[in-house]
Amino acid sequence: VAKEAGRNRYHLYDPEHDRRARAQREAISRIEEGLLRGEFQLHYQPKVDMRRGRVVGAEALIRWQHPQRGLLPPSEFLPHIDGTELARPVGEWVIDTALAQMAAWRKGGLELPVSVNVSARHLQSPDFTDNLARALARQPGVPPSDLELEILETSALDDLLHVAGLIDGCHRLGVSFALDDFGTGYSSLSYLKRLSAKTLKIDQSFVRDMLHDSEDMAIVDAIVGMAEAFQRRVIAEGVEGVEHGVLLLHLGCDCAQGYAIARPMAAAEIPAWVANWRPDGAWLQAARQHCP
Ligand code: C2E
Ligand code: MG
Ligand code: MG
Ligand code: MG
Repeated sequence: VAKEAGRNRYHLYDPEHDRRARAQREAISRIEEGLLRGEFQLHYQPKVDMRRGRVVGAEALIRWQHPQRGLLPPSEFLPHIDGTELARPVGEWVIDTALAQMAAWRKGGLELPVSVNVSARHLQSPDFTDNLARALARQPGVPPSDLELEILETSALDDLLHVAGLIDGCHRLGVSFALDDFGTGYSSLSYLKRLSAKTLKIDQSFVRDMLHDSEDMAIVDAIVGMAEAFQRRVIAEGVEGVEHGVLLLHLGCDCAQGYAIARPMAAAEIPAWVANWRPDGAWLQAARQHCP
């Protein structure tokens, strides 16, 4: 200990730091055990085209069915593993599970594109593209073009050139990308030009408040315009009310995801939900008004 005490002295002798480091290690090993015991699940939240009245896909969202604490959202456990070694096995489990689910739905006659969230650490692991190719090969019945990877705009900025290359590599496999929480980072136009991600997901904070906050509405409007100018698809997250959908249609954004459409649900509920979903009448009317 004495030998190490030089540069890291403050860390070594700070009991609070010690305690936090130990808690973090314990949290990580509990998450690892949960993964091995099969306690993780994916829930799926539908995405729809409000104008055409079509279900266009679903986003896979991780949950932990904890034996004592119940069903935990990602905010309860992902922060512990963000940037650690465990980000990759968890990320690989998510991709494998989503692909297996897509194959199962296909057997039942449902062809549904699925997006999964990928952490920066996992995306930048050295053999990401090769592993993705292997995961796709394990599910030969699922077209790679039905898989989309959502990455945070901010994680793309970490190492722009590297991420731009990864996106192109995955495109060669047929897999597409979406920039998640778009608008919350420093989305400059030149950086959007370099990233060939096909979809921009407008962050829910802007969408939620745009009915009352003219600046948020201006941001949503600007992102829709950017998507159009750069020939990207655009989808709004956090659509909590029918009125949000109406305004989005007026702004030229047809695709939406949010509680007004559906909450994330267990995989088993998806086929019936897809079969029964109908767009709101107000959306069809807005669509006709705006684009006859
Ligand atoms: P995200 O990718 O932006 O996902 C959208 C989040 O917003 C989800 O929360 C979803 O349940 C929630 N949401 C959807 N519609 C609405 C709405 O109308 N109103 C409100 N208030 N919320 C809505 P969730 O499932 O708790 O996930 C939170 C974040 O955790 C995700 O944000 C994503 O960044 C991350 N995450 C989730 N699953 C995974 C995963 O498998 N891997 C990784 N790396 N990250 C994940
Ligand atoms: Mg997402
Ligand atoms: Mg998001
Ligand atoms: Mg988010």
